[in-house]
Amino acid sequence: MSEPHLETHHGEQSGRDPREMTVAELNGLGHDKMPLLKAIRAKCLDCCGGQQSEVRRCVSAKTCSLWPYRMNSNPFSEREGNPAGAAALIAWRERQQADSAQ
Ligand code: SF4
Repeated sequence: MSEPHLETHHGEQSGRDPREMTVAELNGLGHDKMPLLKAIRAKCLDCCGGQQSEVRRCVSAKTCSLWPYRMNSNPFSEREGNPAGAAALIAWRERQQADSAQ
């Protein structure tokens, strides 16, 4: 039986490019359209055995690119109503400018 998410690439089995799949194929695999922050949160919950408290306490800030987003929010967002995110973004930009000036 063929698996819709797999293909043969250079003679070896590999995952298909989701950009080349239909929504129906993705839905058939159990993937529904969702905001990226929710997808990240779901991955973090999976990573922590479904324990929300463990996601909150995750210490992998220096090794996991998902870490800033694990609480289902974007701390870098400049959207109105997120002053902490705006401050974080300003601080990050200042650090980037300082690094590039060296
Ligand atoms: S941020 Fe932490 S909980 Fe989320 S995927 Fe990375 S290591 Fe796992």
